[in-house]
Amino acid sequence: MKLSEIGEFGFIERFAHRFEDLLAPNAMGIGDDCAILPAGDHDLVITTDMLVEDIHFIREKMSARDLGHKALAVNLSDVAAMGARPTGSFLSIAIPSDVPVEYLDELMEGYHELSAQHQLPLMGGDTTRSPQKLVLNISVIGTIAKGQARLRSGAQVGDHLVVTSTLGDSAAGLQVLLNDWQGQADSDWLLQRHLRPQAHVAQGQWLAQHKSVHAMMDVSDGIASDLQHILKASKKGAHIDLDQLPLSPQLQAFSRARKMDAHELATSGGEDYCLLLTVAGEQLPKLREAYKKEFGEDLYPIGHITEAGGLQWQQAGKLLKQAPRGGFNHFV
Ligand SMILES: [Mg+2]
Repeated sequence: MKLSEIGEFGFIERFAHRFEDLLAPNAMGIGDDCAILPAGDHDLVITTDMLVEDIHFIREKMSARDLGHKALAVNLSDVAAMGARPTGSFLSIAIPSDVPVEYLDELMEGYHELSAQHQLPLMGGDTTRSPQKLVLNISVIGTIAKGQARLRSGAQVGDHLVVTSTLGDSAAGLQVLLNDWQGQADSDWLLQRHLRPQAHVAQGQWLAQHKSVHAMMDVSDGIASDLQHILKASKKGAHIDLDQLPLSPQLQAFSRARKMDAHELATSGGEDYCLLLTVAGEQLPKLREAYKKEFGEDLYPIGHITEAGGLQWQQAGKLLKQAPRGGFNHFV
């Protein structure tokens, strides 16, 4: 059987359940943005993520500094999704012989820049040779008050579905990169959103302190794919209203000019690295107001949680028969 027949998550399902019996009490293993380990009066959260050249990045298409930043940012985003504060990182690198030391210095410069922003020490890792491709694996550890981490399983019927930024900008930025469309204000802005994602770490910590926030995860593969994890873990369904998706003016101008489908980029493009959360129905206006006061930014409602029935899309007040194209699958 080929891996592409079952996909990334099909593969994980084949073994994940066999490790559940081995978990310590109150620990949580595979299946959320981070694992959780109880540690005295608080919980530790742990995440790990791998970036492989030509799968997740193209070495010639992005600077080493941007790569160093992005590799850490995508891990910070998973810690943010739990509502935790990141406390340390580990970095392992497999390096092909054609990579100069100057490249690696630049990579670590980008990694350090973002680490310093979050007071986050690099605490260890490993380096080894690689036959051909550059591979980075990063782990980040964080802490949070006991029992306060927000899980994918917390969604309740009637909750609003909310995201913390515009969607699709990074996916459009990737198109700019791949097609060499740089040089215009809109496309350069979108490219920056792709190369320098901002993990919503402070926002995640703030949101996890509010009881009205029931479930949370980060948007890495695109909401069409990511939301399925919340629905599966919470055993619920959802409606998303395409008309409500927050689209930046830059994305709208870009998709018009390049004849691309902005909704498809926003739902399936991925790598937004903002947060996707569910919020108790009647509490949203209050939370939105307080969030705006705290961060000067908006929370964007995009739909709501339903009893069951999977993920359904609506537009102009009508349910759509066909879903927008699915999320990013690493093995296709
Ligand atoms: Mg995640």
